[in-house]
Amino acid sequence: MAVSRREGYFLKPNSIVDMEKIVALCKRRGFIFQSSEIYGGLSSVWDYGPFGAELKRNVKNAWWKTVIHERDDVVGLDTGILMHPSTWKASGHIDTFNDLVVDCKKCKKRFRPDHLKGKCPSCGGTDFTEPRAFNLMLKTYLGPIENEEGLTYLRPETAQGIFVNFLNILDTTHRKLPFGVAQTGKSFRNEITPGNFTFRTREFEQMEIEYFTHPKDAEDCHKKWIEERFNWYLKLGLKKDKLRLRAHDKDELAHYSTACTDIEYEFPFGWSELEGIANRTDFDLKQHSQVSGRDLRFQDNITNEKFFPFVIEPSGGVDRATLAFLVDAYHEEQIQGANKEENTRVVLRLSKELAPVKIAVLPLLKKNADIVTLAKKIKQDLQKDFVTVYDDSAAIGKLYRRQDEVGTFYCITVDVQSLEDKQVTVRDRDTMKQERISVDRLREYLAKQFLT
Ligand SMILES: [Zn+2]
Repeated sequence: MAVSRREGYFLKPNSIVDMEKIVALCKRRGFIFQSSEIYGGLSSVWDYGPFGAELKRNVKNAWWKTVIHERDDVVGLDTGILMHPSTWKASGHIDTFNDLVVDCKKCKKRFRPDHLKGKCPSCGGTDFTEPRAFNLMLKTYLGPIENEEGLTYLRPETAQGIFVNFLNILDTTHRKLPFGVAQTGKSFRNEITPGNFTFRTREFEQMEIEYFTHPKDAEDCHKKWIEERFNWYLKLGLKKDKLRLRAHDKDELAHYSTACTDIEYEFPFGWSELEGIANRTDFDLKQHSQVSGRDLRFQDNITNEKFFPFVIEPSGGVDRATLAFLVDAYHEEQIQGANKEENTRVVLRLSKELAPVKIAVLPLLKKNADIVTLAKKIKQDLQKDFVTVYDDSAAIGKLYRRQDEVGTFYCITVDVQSLEDKQVTVRDRDTMKQERISVDRLREYLAKQFLT
């Protein structure tokens, strides 16, 4: 064999994962950076680096494909972050989208009383103001003058963009009930205590479906969507024993809903919500009818019945799902090198659909111009069909480690022998098995791996 076999064999998996390791990997490999880091950072805002941007995009694309393209009854939408301020009056957000806050009298920091255990987490003080309501919407002013007339909000949920377009969608798509409308996009909430890396942030991305149905079918529909959405996370690779469903108690339901079930993932910081599937009833359409003066009822052309549909809302967080996929994929393995030394291999076992890079092409000797030329040509050929990278900036062992850490599925190594026999070595991320494949057959071989 012309290719180095230095990797040795797999000893034992060791998957104790904590947030420190995830945060460090995200920074080291360019998944997630602190926002405005050169200025000391902006608290709880994060930027996705080159591999993080790919991963997050893959999560959204997988969602869009499953909930829109692979169904007959859901259409896509893309609405503005800024909306007419009456939207938030109608939706109830101006009046009721509040958290309780208390101020620490010593250091003046603000907390949610339910997050306190008697003591100020910042200064240790024990004297707090009385709890009061704090609206979570972020204000902004449109136009040149900062006054009440220009006051509006950065949307706290993408859902309202769907409700206010209900008539437009009916008129242009001629849908019958039940049908859904789905969109992804940024939303903003002025969280009092954000935290846990990208889990709770003030700026975040949602993936929401509003599924309109006859009121009598709403309960059944709710059950179906809970199952559908749970299975989506499983299909994309999350471990089943790390996922659970949790129905909300009556006292934790939002003002608009009669039932809600969360899909929760067991993060290193505990079980936390990835997605909520709520029965929003006819609350929103009724409210918008009232405030706008437009009739948002659905008319059934066969029965002539006219009514407000009920809405089932599967509402997921893109950043939360991305973080869960990262945490779940993280593995550390002890492997033995040629000199019997043991070292740790960090590998992201992301699914084929989610892995930010599918293939890396690596020249074994970057000083050999023929090897480099062939490697670059292979990369050019493959990049039309697969996300492919080329890297020659280190020795092969190090290059493999880097690719393992971002979850690259296959590494293709071009060596001296490749120039003679027109074959390259394809290395599998998970098994580390290596196979010689002829350059002519490479695309066909890889297409088979990715399509099955
Ligand atoms: Zn304090």
